[in-house]
Amino acid sequence: MNVQAIREQFPILHQNVNGHPLVYLDSAASSQKPRSVIDAVSRFYEHDNANVHRGVHTLGSRATDAYEGAREKTAKFLNAASPQEIIFTRGTTTALNLVASSYARAVCGEGDEIVITQMEHHSNLIPWQQAAKATGATLKYIPLQKDGSIRLADVEATVTDRTKLVSVMYVSNVLGVVNPIKEITAIAHKHGAKMVVDGAQSTPHMKVDVRDLDCDFYAFSGHKMCAPTGIGALYGKKALLEAMEPVEFGGEMIDHVDLYDSTWKELPWKFEGGTPIIAGAVGLGAAIDFLNEIGLDEIERHEHKLAAYAYDRLSTIEGISIFGPVENRAGLVTFNLNDVHPHDVATVLDTKGIAIRAGHHCCQPLMRYLNVSSTARASFYLYNTEEDVDRLIDGLHQTKEFFGYGIG
Ligand code: PLP
Repeated sequence: MNVQAIREQFPILHQNVNGHPLVYLDSAASSQKPRSVIDAVSRFYEHDNANVHRGVHTLGSRATDAYEGAREKTAKFLNAASPQEIIFTRGTTTALNLVASSYARAVCGEGDEIVITQMEHHSNLIPWQQAAKATGATLKYIPLQKDGSIRLADVEATVTDRTKLVSVMYVSNVLGVVNPIKEITAIAHKHGAKMVVDGAQSTPHMKVDVRDLDCDFYAFSGHKMCAPTGIGALYGKKALLEAMEPVEFGGEMIDHVDLYDSTWKELPWKFEGGTPIIAGAVGLGAAIDFLNEIGLDEIERHEHKLAAYAYDRLSTIEGISIFGPVENRAGLVTFNLNDVHPHDVATVLDTKGIAIRAGHHCCQPLMRYLNVSSTARASFYLYNTEEDVDRLIDGLHQTKEFFGYGIG
């Protein structure tokens, strides 16, 4: 993988921030966009823009082709059986809320169980809390190991024949751990439960095959994988989606409307009420082309190498605590430095042109489990280099010195 050539395709990376060349280490929050994606969105607005599925005019059909073409690319990207299994959403949060508001409320009742973990992002936790409250189901947590990882024996012990849904993140945005989704799915299915996967941190960084995982639902966000904000998708097995009720009603999603009753379009449109994020979908299609051209396996290898290099170098800093397992990590490292508040770490690094994330990372229950209020996080993508890591390490030494911990 030629990282320098890849960097050339990201205009935003070539700037100084606070007098220093930018080092962007916050791709887990949102990735940067390559020229091909920016151009695809501009081209759409300059040449093809119109509403979809409505006009008989030429621009209307071009826009519809572009939008539905993006759906086909997304289906292939995830290895879904058909584009009908891809519902465009605003992102992971909206996709998970759709399953929780529609499927969970339809199948769960008093005494049933929804199973998640304490490492989940709020987007894969609160929708289930709400669904449990609304239906009388019990929300259960698969216990975590000390390093935050999951043992399959604990999944076996938590999932029962009363479990209707299991929802787990593929890759943790804090711990970097890659969860054994295929195995967890098999356990869920053994008990007749459906498996939901939060793919926000996996889809941008590794090859995902929903049919191989055999999960029932899979959610992801475009903006973390080089696409614009405001677009993402829910994959669902066709039979499940067909049986589900829409949660948003209005234009675009209807078949026949009467004064007191209406019927819905077929999949996937019954879930896409209103004018969709057309240019966003076009951008997502371009992002998928871009990632496919480089190869997800290559990207994953590059990031793992970078994360291992970062882990090793960070480990040499006196006073640092690194969270998450040593093995089986994706491309991010979460840490705290002595008792310097992570926001202060991020603020000092920002003065050196280095962008990292600090906070609870939308994982307050996990922060409580780790016994911290917040952490700092450096996350990597295909455009990051070892020099970026070196700049981070230098910046952390300077941060320590700034707060009176000396260098070491
Ligand atoms: N799940 C995980 C693991 C995430 O990291 C994020 C975003 O940071 C989300 C869900 C929510 O994604 P979005 O805000 O794009 O809906």
